[in-house]
Amino acid sequence: MRMSRAIWLSTVFALISISGSAAAQDETAELLAQESDRIPRPESRGEPSQSVSVGLTNAGSVAHSVELADTETLFVKHGSTDTRWGTAELVAMVERAANSVAATHPGSRLTVGDLSRRHGGRAHPHRSHRAGRDVDIGFYVTDLESGDEIVVDRFINMSRGGRGRDQRGRQYRFDVERNWALMASILEDDRIDVQFVLINPAIRRALIRHARSEGVDAELRERFSIVSARRSGSASHRSHFHVRIYCPVDDRPRCVDAPPYHPFVFTSEEETQKRLAEWREFTPPRRAAPRRRRARRRGRMQRHAMRSRMTMMQRGMRGSMGASMRATARARTMRRGGGGMMAGLAASTSGDP
Ligand SMILES: [Zn+2]
Repeated sequence: MRMSRAIWLSTVFALISISGSAAAQDETAELLAQESDRIPRPESRGEPSQSVSVGLTNAGSVAHSVELADTETLFVKHGSTDTRWGTAELVAMVERAANSVAATHPGSRLTVGDLSRRHGGRAHPHRSHRAGRDVDIGFYVTDLESGDEIVVDRFINMSRGGRGRDQRGRQYRFDVERNWALMASILEDDRIDVQFVLINPAIRRALIRHARSEGVDAELRERFSIVSARRSGSASHRSHFHVRIYCPVDDRPRCVDAPPYHPFVFTSEEETQKRLAEWREFTPPRRAAPRRRRARRRGRMQRHAMRSRMTMMQRGMRGSMGASMRATARARTMRRGGGGMMAGLAASTSGDP
């Protein structure tokens, strides 16, 4: 089982890594579609779930994805219509959240951006959004002048003070009440588990302040605070929330969760260690190339140091070992530098938006 999974995943990654040109991307999509057909449809928490999230969100794909359709309470904005597919779990989460906000604020319509492409894989310009577990969700806004709740057809960039304007000069305010209701809905949704929400720290603080002033229960506020904590990519999220969910239970072990593993989702240490081991076992192929290159370079440096030592011995240059020592020191520095680069690469694979 473990072996076949490794082989299967490496096949998919080989397919994904050849993507580049438009033609190659079409070809990749085609191959991913064929892979998708080979994956059986599982059952999920008592309900049939068609989809399977495969691999990591920044190197994976999604089989049997579900399309997020426009409804009275949400729509996919212009420019994101090729990336309106996700796992059944993610799509249903967005629908439930939009419905729950509209239930208390009639007329609300959520502006949704990118999820994943139909079969996943690279979704320009994102690094992630490849495995049906990421979604960009626009903010609920009000008109700055009148305070009316408005539906906007695009993402609106917000200042630290929660104000924004569109190209036509209309001005908006970040609607902290409805945006908090949205966050509360996805965090209280017991059919999915939110891994993180990328959001600018100033907007996050406004939401936390609002929740406290509304007397929201401390456990929910704490959970929001953990999932929205600053991480790579947070600062630039001034026009939308980027929400990622953990692998749906029935998509494992094909689906791989990168850290972090929140204690309110993974309640036992054993469960956490298991995820970590799975993630470590799973090594994206791009790490292999630099490692080989570095090893070759290190070999060259060591051979060079050896040669200069030999040369000096042959020439009888006693007392002037400087060149040899410098070359050896360079080889040692390369080794250390190599370690640093490895660590950096490993960290970047857990990446985000
Ligand atoms: Zn995103």
